Parts: sequence; structure tokens; C-alpha cells
Amino acid sequence: GADGILRRQSLRESAARTYARALPIVPVRARGLTIEGADGRRYLDCLSGAGTLALGHNHPVVLEAIRKVLDSGAPLHVLDLATPVKDAFVTELFATLPPAFADRARVQFCGPAGTDAVEAALKLVRTATRRSGLLAFTGAYHGMTAGALAASGGAQDTGVTRLPYPQDYRCPFGSGGEEGAQLAARWAESLLDDPKSGVPHPAGMIVEPVQGEGGVIPAPDSWMRRMRELTADRDIPLIADEVQTGVGRTGAFWAVEHSGIVPDVMVLSKAIGGSLPLAVVVYRDDLDVWKPGAHAGTFRGNQLAMAAGAATLAYVRKNGLAEHAAVVGAHMLRQLQALASDYPEIGEVRGRGLMIGVELVDPVPGPAGSVPGAPLPAAPRLAAAVQRECLQRGLIVELGGRHSSVVRLLPPLTLTDDQATAVLDRLTDALAAAVR
Ligand code: PMP
Repeated sequence: GADGILRRQSLRESAARTYARALPIVPVRARGLTIEGADGRRYLDCLSGAGTLALGHNHPVVLEAIRKVLDSGAPLHVLDLATPVKDAFVTELFATLPPAFADRARVQFCGPAGTDAVEAALKLVRTATRRSGLLAFTGAYHGMTAGALAASGGAQDTGVTRLPYPQDYRCPFGSGGEEGAQLAARWAESLLDDPKSGVPHPAGMIVEPVQGEGGVIPAPDSWMRRMRELTADRDIPLIADEVQTGVGRTGAFWAVEHSGIVPDVMVLSKAIGGSLPLAVVVYRDDLDVWKPGAHAGTFRGNQLAMAAGAATLAYVRKNGLAEHAAVVGAHMLRQLQALASDYPEIGEVRGRGLMIGVELVDPVPGPAGSVPGAPLPAAPRLAAAVQRECLQRGLIVELGGRHSSVVRLLPPLTLTDDQATAVLDRLTDALAAAVR
């Protein structure tokens, strides 16, 4: 039974695997937004495989695409060989990419995970520029392998220059909004241009258009454009990490479309595999300077993932799910912002499309509380309590942010208005119970 499975898991699985402890459920069936546990309980899943399930669980078009490959007798593992399945995936992927980028782009299949594609991107720009330094941002998350980890916030790596990522609530310049974003951009600019800063001409800049793990922080479009200008003017390749923001999640098919920038490199994973492991890096053709065999990896030809991914990309594109995510997401954001006015424990509600975060804070007046409008201390324990209360009400949410104080919602893009209401109702009740 479920209890036995949970007991064995907590005995044998490392405490590092926090999901298993925070979400003690044993999923046996799932469809769309809903997961059913071994005990028969149903949950609304707003974790979506950490943002992977654009169409929710077991969408019929995804299952059909997987079955079709299985029934065809096609090889499932082919490394880099050309196959009809890969051809269909690449064709569909290029149909979704911003034309100004796709027209001159090449795709490279990487290992199964987002972090593999990040490594490939970093190595690519270093190879192409023959430089080594990197520009990355505070609060960033790019993965858990060495290069991606070094580029992530909190890491100390001499090869990485960390620039401020603009944010309203905890703006490092104390102003937030456009002004804060401009100050962040100016900081980046002066660091690059001041010979005394000691920052060597870097090989590239890697940026998330919306920080996900960092606590759902959308970058202003104007700032993204500034970063594009700044890097273009200095011949620095710009890598857009769209592992989490891609495939309609933020209300545009790719989040770079909001600002209209054309990056030099895009890193894609999660939803592009339609719930199966798949990661690619797409880049401007003239960056493709490396020799055959220069970058390898055994699991880069997963035919089932390509088929599931192609079906997902096509479904999102043909059904306008990015636009749908923009509308439903904006509605949820407004509802949550209204809720925030009742709760001093909500520091900020933010997001873009169906990538939404609710930052919980400690409203006890202290030194921080005495400054009007100043951000309050993060409240990770309250966030964990909200997550627990959500689970008791049949809602699965994710925590994030530098202090794990942000409740994150990443529902499928297929979310209906009724489902959005159900999610918000449960979250509202959970919040009320947690602050009591
Ligand atoms: N980049 C971003 C923006 C991510 O959100 C993640 C995963 N959360 C990664 C990279 C790493 O992907 P993976 O966990 O598949 O290695």
C-alpha cells in the first residue's frame, strides 16, 4: 500500500531528495491537471514536473505520438543519426522559434537534462569566442552540473561575473520598477566598460527571461533589450536559458518574444520533450565552429521524447496555448494580488503567463518594517506551511526563491477557468490555515 511505499522510500531515499518528503503522495494515475494517489485521493498538480508538463499529465496527443513510435518498430536509441522522428521534431521546433532567430539557427541535441544543454551552450560560446569568462545574474538557476552551477546564483566562481538581476520587491538599488532595471543595466555596463573593474572580455552572457527557481522574477522587457544591446555592442554572445520559460509558459511561445530580442543561443529543455527527457541548444550558424566529436553525449537521440515533444509543440502552437496562458495567468495574478491586500504575509505576487509566484514574508514590524515599502524578511517556514496546507486540500505547489519563501504555480497551459478557480480557492484556504 501507499504507506509501505512511503515508509520504504523515506528509509532508502536520500534526504537530499526533498520533493519526496514535502509531497508524501504516491501517484498511480494522472491526467491533465490531476494526479491520483494510491490512496485514491486526487490532487491538482501545479508543480507539473517542475514546469515540464505544458499539456498536463498524459495528454492524449502525447500518448498517441509515443505509441505511434513504439508500434512502428523504429529504433528507440540512435545517437545523432537522422530519423523521420527527429526530422519531424526539428521541423516543428523551427516553426515555433522567432523567425529572425530560426532563419540562421542550428540545433544540437544534448544529454537528457536542461543542465546538459546549458553546458553545451557555455562550451559553445567559449569555443567560438576563444574567451572564457561568463556574465551571469544574481538569483539565477541553470542546473546542477559544474558549468551550469557556477553560472547559478549563490555560486562562487572566479570565471563568472555576477550582475544584478532586476526585481521590484527586493531591488538591490531600493527602487524597483523601470528605475531599478535601469540602475541594474547601468551597473552591468560600467562593470564591463571600466578597465579598473578587472572583468575580462567575456565569452558570453547567460540569462533567464523570467527567473524560475530564483523565485519567479520576470525581467522587464526594456532591461532584456538593454542586455541585448550591451552584449551585441561588445561582441558578447547572449544565451537565453528558456528551459523553464519556453513552450508557452510565460504567455508567449518563447519568453524572448516579449521583448523582441534575438539571442545568439537558446537553451531548451523541460516542456520540449512532452514530459520525456530532451534538451537542445539552438544557435546562430556562425557560432557552429566546433569540430565533429567536439561535444558528445550518449543520450541525445531519444526518439520517444522527440515524438512526444513534437506533438506538444504542435499542439501548443495550433491551439494558441501561449495566448491562453497569458489570459488565464493574468486573471490568476489579479486574483492573487487582490488576496495580497488582505494578507500582510504576502510580500509580493508576481509572474508572467502561467509562471506565478507568491512571496511570503514575516510581517512582524522590525528594523525592515519601519521603512515604508521596504521588503520584509522572507518567511520560508510559512511558505512550507502553505505548501503542506495546500497538499491537505489536494493542491500540489512548488517552493522556490533564494530563501524557499516563494510559493510557485506552474499549472499546465491547458488550465481552464474552472480549474484556475479551483486552484485559487484551495490556495486561499491553505493560506488562511497557514497564517492562523
Ligand atoms: N535552466 C533553468 C532556467 C531551469 O529552470 C532548470 C531546471 N529547473 C535548468 C536549467 C536545469 O534543468 P535540469 O533540471 O533538467 O537539468
